[in-house]
Amino acid sequence: MNYEELKTLTSQFLPLSDSQIEAFKKYAVLLREWNAKFNLTAITEESEVVEKHFYDCLLPFKSIKFENINAIDLGSGAGFPGLVFAIAMPTWNITLVDSTNKKCTFLKEAAKELGLTNVTVINARAEELGMRGQFDLVSARAVAPLYLLLELAMPLLKVNGTFLSMKGSKAEEEIKEAKDAFRKLDCKVVSMNTESLPNDVGTRSNIVIKKIKETNKKYPRTWGEMQKHHL
Ligand code: SAH
Repeated sequence: MNYEELKTLTSQFLPLSDSQIEAFKKYAVLLREWNAKFNLTAITEESEVVEKHFYDCLLPFKSIKFENINAIDLGSGAGFPGLVFAIAMPTWNITLVDSTNKKCTFLKEAAKELGLTNVTVINARAEELGMRGQFDLVSARAVAPLYLLLELAMPLLKVNGTFLSMKGSKAEEEIKEAKDAFRKLDCKVVSMNTESLPNDVGTRSNIVIKKIKETNKKYPRTWGEMQKHHL
């Protein structure tokens, strides 16, 4: 996929300006430069970056429409979807969290180079963040199974806040597997949008989940507890 195609394919649900397209081009260059040193992502070929990172991370805008919110992206890695959201949505304040220091170094540098003033980067484990009830939106792509992500995400959200879980082809199974977690963490699925990426590169499901009430203070537990005793 090239940038013209990116612009055309997203125009129906998230029109991108020329300066936003320029920002994506610059982001791809930074990714390639830093990847040579730090091995940040397996995908570096530009047409693949455009499709599997940028386009993929813009697809959620088919399901969510928010302005002026506080958002947080857990396990942001090289900035997916968090940094893409920061470029796409200038009215959002977005916090990017990753437990790996070198990824955070890249994220800070990339935000600076791209002139993004709506980004804060925190090098921490999501379950040790604190920051309860502060966010309107939590996002995560490719970080952990859904039942575990729910335990990381719910405490961070305001009541009625949204958790966007970006999943591949196993989304339905993950929702079933998380049945008890949904109940214990007082949240529910509001919608799920599934589509194939162009060029046969796979299926994506964006699951929109809503926090119904205040999360029990015993969550999140430690990472070890979460692994040992699945909700
Ligand atoms: N979201 C990115 C990266 C996925 S890889 C993408 O889709 O491309 C998973 C990332 O989550 C890694 O960068 C890893 O360091 C981070 N991570 C894993 N567990 C975490 C936790 N508990 N808290 C914060 N970051 C975590």
